[in-house]
Amino acid sequence: MTGCSRGSSDAGLLVVLSGPSGVGKGTVVAHAMSLKSEGAHRLRRSVSVTTRPPRPDEKDGVDYFFCGLEAFEGKVQQGRLLEWATYLDNRYGTPADWVDQQLASGSNVVLEIEVQGAMQVRERRPESVLIYMLPPSWRALRRRLRTRRSESEEVQRKRLAVAREEVKWVSAYSYLLVNDRVPRAARRLLAILEAERARVERADLGPWFGGVDD
Ligand code: 5GP
Repeated sequence: MTGCSRGSSDAGLLVVLSGPSGVGKGTVVAHAMSLKSEGAHRLRRSVSVTTRPPRPDEKDGVDYFFCGLEAFEGKVQQGRLLEWATYLDNRYGTPADWVDQQLASGSNVVLEIEVQGAMQVRERRPESVLIYMLPPSWRALRRRLRTRRSESEEVQRKRLAVAREEVKWVSAYSYLLVNDRVPRAARRLLAILEAERARVERADLGPWFGGVDD
């Protein structure tokens, strides 16, 4: 039978997590990584490159790799980004090499990226898992953005306006993850990944179609 061995069960999953700015993507991923389970230990969060200036609590190399526009464009020219996009006048992109190394070593890599970038990943890596995170309500999101206090009201308003546009893309994703409570959303994220790993098209079925040796 041909076509049985379509995937490699050793490679990690490439996970795209989108959702409105302020919805808590980073918090949920961090919580999922802290849980005591096999799935949690295999989870890695990709650190993006951005031209956005750091917020007071952000660290270079941890939250983002912060760089200037020229350096960013150099990476684009050299093909070093898996995807990139402009979001409210700033560039954001995913370093391709790191992601591929992690996937090859069996880690599940989460990209916390906006919709334009997510669609590029979907095109280039159709095997990726696309998840869209939503807040329980727009009101809850507004409150979150306000309490974050790292941006002016003007920027918060722009971020909400982008979010309302972005959400129209939700049907391009495979899973919806409502961040009602962080621990619950984190457990659901790991459950999605576990189910995805069990998909027949990802399995290496070779051994099951060989001869019976006992
Ligand atoms: P923030 O400025 O709030 O950190 O991020 C703004 C938006 O850019 C968020 O939706 C965030 O998920 C997204 N983003 C962060 N890194 C990347 C990236 O590497 N590529 C793309 N396309 N979007 C990103």
